[in-house]
Amino acid sequence: MSVLNGEKMTNSTKQVNVAEECDGKCGSCSTSDDCNDHRKQQYEQEQKLKLRLSKIKHKIAVISGKGGVGKSTVTANLAMAFVMQGHRDKVGVLDADIHGPCIPKMLGLKGQTLIGGPGGMLFPVTGKLGIKVVSMDFVLPNDEAPVIWRGPLKMRAIQQFLSDVTWGELDYLFIDLPPGTGDESLSVMQLIPDMDGVVIVTMPSEVSQAVVKKAVTFAKQMNVPIIGIVENMSGFVCPDCGAKVDIFRTGGGKKIAEDLTVPYLGSIPIDPNICTDSDNGLPFIAENKTSPATKAFMEIVEKIQQFLENTETARSKEIKNENMCKCNSK
Ligand code: ADP
Repeated sequence: MSVLNGEKMTNSTKQVNVAEECDGKCGSCSTSDDCNDHRKQQYEQEQKLKLRLSKIKHKIAVISGKGGVGKSTVTANLAMAFVMQGHRDKVGVLDADIHGPCIPKMLGLKGQTLIGGPGGMLFPVTGKLGIKVVSMDFVLPNDEAPVIWRGPLKMRAIQQFLSDVTWGELDYLFIDLPPGTGDESLSVMQLIPDMDGVVIVTMPSEVSQAVVKKAVTFAKQMNVPIIGIVENMSGFVCPDCGAKVDIFRTGGGKKIAEDLTVPYLGSIPIDPNICTDSDNGLPFIAENKTSPATKAFMEIVEKIQQFLENTETARSKEIKNENMCKCNSK
């Protein structure tokens, strides 16, 4: 049963040859081969998901309270930054914005489709940038087609994006979530229990700040580490006279980070080239290497790398301690 192939979800899966006392652990069940219970399909899907995720070293979600603050722009450029640092073909982006996917457009992959393989396998789209992308946009027949789905169907699509897609060995997977704390965000956090953390994007305006607090609370409640807050569209420097204008105010992201005691990653100014490059399917950091926006962005990337290094060091210390404890208890 596949959401991506357009088949309907159904609860009427036939149950034949089910062991009388099914505990849902098909791996150790003697009648598993002949079983047709829906729990077996679920079990197999979970196993597939675990296998796929085990091949991805780092998983980072990018979230925001509101739409239009630059979350997808940050995701696309984060992916590009890691490609530029030697991870070509080892970086993936899951565009989990089911209703408004725009990562394909920003990475020059508009009009592509997911390629199928034997046994229902799906392959991500990889363009000339060396970033593997999966998006609802690759499944929709045209730009005007809306997705009118309720929560469970969206959850299933995201699960399939993660488990049926042959991502291969990846160093980084960035997940672009829709704004807010709805179905898609919840699904992703539940499906990826070992998420490295979330990057939260906001604008400096008070209107944005009010909702970004909800995103911070959401991440805390889901027990997902917060890598930090990025303030996007933070001031504009006139290219003619050099005067700085704070179009949407400035400093709000930093204040929120301080108030909520979460790390502040930095601020990215407004730059008309960011908009033009996105529209042309080009990540701005690759196109404008010396612009103030690129410099600001690369400082943010450095902080994210530092966070990942620290987490890795902490994890290997934990493993070492666990192994020592085992030795001591012998
Ligand atoms: P979101 O994913 O939060 O909805 P997007 O990343 O789609 O937001 O950005 C919305 C629009 O703003 C896009 O057209 C994008 O190119 C533009 N944009 C984002 N950040 C900047 C910036 N710092 N300067 C100029 N334009 C920007």
